[in-house]
Amino acid sequence: MPTTEYGAAAVALTRQLIQCSSVTPDDAGCQEIMMQRLTAAGFTCEPMRFGDVDNFWATRGEGESTLVFAGHTDVVPPGPDSAWSTPPFTPTDRDGVLYGRGAADMKASLAAMTVAAEAFAKQYSDHSGRVGFLITADEEGPATDGTVKVVEALIARGERLDWCVVGEPSSSKSLGDVIKNGRRGSINGVITIRGKQGHIAYPQFADNPIHSAFLALDALAKEPWDEGNAFFEPTRLQFGNIQAGTGATNVIPGSLSAQFNVRFSTETDATTIRSRCEQILSAHVADFDIEWRLSGEPFLTKPGALVDAVTASIEAITGTSPTLSTGGGTSDGRFIAKTGTQIVELGPINASIHQIDEHILLSDIPRLTAIYYGIMTRLLAPQ
Ligand SMILES: [Zn+2]
Repeated sequence: MPTTEYGAAAVALTRQLIQCSSVTPDDAGCQEIMMQRLTAAGFTCEPMRFGDVDNFWATRGEGESTLVFAGHTDVVPPGPDSAWSTPPFTPTDRDGVLYGRGAADMKASLAAMTVAAEAFAKQYSDHSGRVGFLITADEEGPATDGTVKVVEALIARGERLDWCVVGEPSSSKSLGDVIKNGRRGSINGVITIRGKQGHIAYPQFADNPIHSAFLALDALAKEPWDEGNAFFEPTRLQFGNIQAGTGATNVIPGSLSAQFNVRFSTETDATTIRSRCEQILSAHVADFDIEWRLSGEPFLTKPGALVDAVTASIEAITGTSPTLSTGGGTSDGRFIAKTGTQIVELGPINASIHQIDEHILLSDIPRLTAIYYGIMTRLLAPQ
């Protein structure tokens, strides 16, 4: 791949995408730009709008194996323009750094994967298998009409996705030093403990839910869930909110509510966590319920064809091997993982994402393009 020519194209496309003020869930024209480029490179593009959210699915080629590039065009709100050194939707270079909302999360990745696909289509016009794109504008928001819906539609028509590279900013200190090969699961619970309201001077006629909560919530917080494993940290429960009391100093309240989140490893699952929480609470409290909301089960891509191709491609461009990690928050990978797809997240340095003056090193954009291109050639170049 002629690096300078394609590198310059990827930088230009990054700038063009930053100029679209695509505050979640607004796509602001980004997907139209990408689809035009991909169509010209021989892709069949299919817009898939759900609710108010624009998404698209695109493929090029035929055959058994499909390598998908996934990402989002939406960005988090920039905050006050006056806090930025230069306007957030005006891409600006300063000292080899490109500033703008979405520069790192994740418009440079979108530009790099688009230009890498153009270069690959030109070089290997009859590549084996299929190259795909699964792009949404609803990742930073509620994520209900985005990747999850596209994946459901693709499963319904019998599509199989073998390998998926998500362009999320995975790198820590230098490009490609960390790739994510899985994510922890996440589940939220809200406990309501019911007692009996009464006068604080006559506790014998009341049942204080705060007192029963002390022991119950302490037991939950101290519960050893598992020790994690080679790929995951131990499962952890953390309380985020507790509410009880009427505001008066002489009233025992009638109920207490406590919200918590569990980030969990592949050593356990959501069903086990639910039943253990209920058991622990029953040991201390007579009248309670828990409302659950599952954000995602954990997923893991073990070393194999995809991890090997990504690792080799990073080594060829940067000279160093990436560390595999499952840390951090959830991502759209959780929805794609349901199809049994091998998934790796690989993108720019994440130090400035969601911040004022978000940025990316200009020189990392051509390098990321070359890494994505290298993954395509390793998995799909004709033998
Ligand atoms: Zn992102």
